[in-house]
Amino acid sequence: MVSKLPHIGTTIFTVMSKMATDAEAINLSQGFPGFKSDPILLDLVAKFTKEGMNQYSPMQGIPGLRKILAEKTKLTQGYFPDPETEVTIVSGATEALFCAVSAVTRLGDEVIVLEPAYDSYEPAITLNGGIPVYIPLNSGDFSVDWGKVSSAITYKTRAIMVNSPHNPSGYVWTENDVNQLAELVERTGILVISDEVYEHITFDGKPHISLGSHPVLREKTFVCGSFGKTFHVTGWKIGYCIAPKTWSLEFRKIHQYVTFSTVTPIQFALAEYLEVPERYLSIPDFYQKKRDLFSLGLSKTEFEFTPSTGSFFQLVSYRHLSTMADRTLAERMTKELKVACIPISVFYSDKRDDKIIRFCFAKEESELNEALNRLSELHRILE
Ligand code: PMP
Ligand code: GLN
Repeated sequence: MVSKLPHIGTTIFTVMSKMATDAEAINLSQGFPGFKSDPILLDLVAKFTKEGMNQYSPMQGIPGLRKILAEKTKLTQGYFPDPETEVTIVSGATEALFCAVSAVTRLGDEVIVLEPAYDSYEPAITLNGGIPVYIPLNSGDFSVDWGKVSSAITYKTRAIMVNSPHNPSGYVWTENDVNQLAELVERTGILVISDEVYEHITFDGKPHISLGSHPVLREKTFVCGSFGKTFHVTGWKIGYCIAPKTWSLEFRKIHQYVTFSTVTPIQFALAEYLEVPERYLSIPDFYQKKRDLFSLGLSKTEFEFTPSTGSFFQLVSYRHLSTMADRTLAERMTKELKVACIPISVFYSDKRDDKIIRFCFAKEESELNEALNRLSELHRILE
């Protein structure tokens, strides 16, 4: 059989989490919280399941969840998308990204991807007959080189995929980044697929600026979000897409044949849960404590790093310590030090290895402390 995705293997998240389980290691590889969600939210799901909200929801999501999400968007980003025509509830941001890419990409279209990039972008583009065009983020802080992006745009460019707060680097877009993109979009007419799954996880008072908040970008952007990330329930696979009416229409044509609709009782539970803004407004502080604890601990190890400014990931470099391939280091750390991580080379199209690995710090304090303890033994595997 001729594969449609010959270069794609099993995603690194599945590979590393299995390795962590087999080795009985602390799993700081795949990004998922190691603690429970708010019991109020869990009780709401139980309530709605028992009340019988267990059949198909409307294809675009229940009206109550779309409306409260629009209100949250107004509160946090200053604009109110039309819940009827511009907000769609989907089965996770992965689905949102896939449907958005499918909605815009035609055979031979180029789609710009800034790398290191989340691993679902490329297969979505390729499966839709598009051609990914890779632009590296600046080494060091992983900011965007807008000159490079601008010169990569040709008459074939259909869209650009962006991600802030960024996985894996934690870089959070500034107002200047947003304005630069708006200027490009205005000049060239390209579309934007904006992955904002870490919208509520930023540090040191840095705001998350949704592309939907910019009047020019709002008309051209699919904003993709994930309730799984925001409320520590990644296994629920529920997210959303906010896009202008005409693009939402195209998006829904695809969503209705990928999954049709999304898990009903959880939509009802989230609609009620979102009524209290403090439940999402408190998330930056909650994660800041973990970021601070983890970076303080890391500063006592041999790794070099700059504290993450967003997402629940921390990159660290070992370039000054060893020439070992990052995949080898990740494997040896998992099996010998019993701490699993993600090698960053997997997020590059050419698998370039800058000797950087990623840790997820969305874990209980005790687990982070134990992991840090083990990481202080790093020299054992580098010798
Ligand atoms: N984009 C990024 C950058 C991610 O880290 C993830 C991980 N969950 C996703 C999208 C997918 O989100 P979901 O689990 O809601 O599908
Ligand atoms: N987004 C998560 C990460 O970057 C993983 C999600 C998944 O396993 N698909 O680790």
